[in-house]
Amino acid sequence: MAYKITDTCVACGTCAGECPVGAISEGEIYSIDADKCIDCGTCSSVCPTGAIEEA
Ligand code: SF4
Repeated sequence: MAYKITDTCVACGTCAGECPVGAISEGEIYSIDADKCIDCGTCSSVCPTGAIEEA
């Protein structure tokens, strides 16, 4: 199981800087590499728009 970023993402980049395994990549909206994600939840807790949820 991995976290995923929904379309409420405003591409602020906050999550990418906090992910301990570098699983989040930049794009029109950000995305999470499910193979790298260790399910720590850090990104979800720092997202200002609540865009990151458990998949
Ligand atoms: Fe990275 Fe943790 Fe978010 Fe997975 S849950 S993308 S490991 S910050």
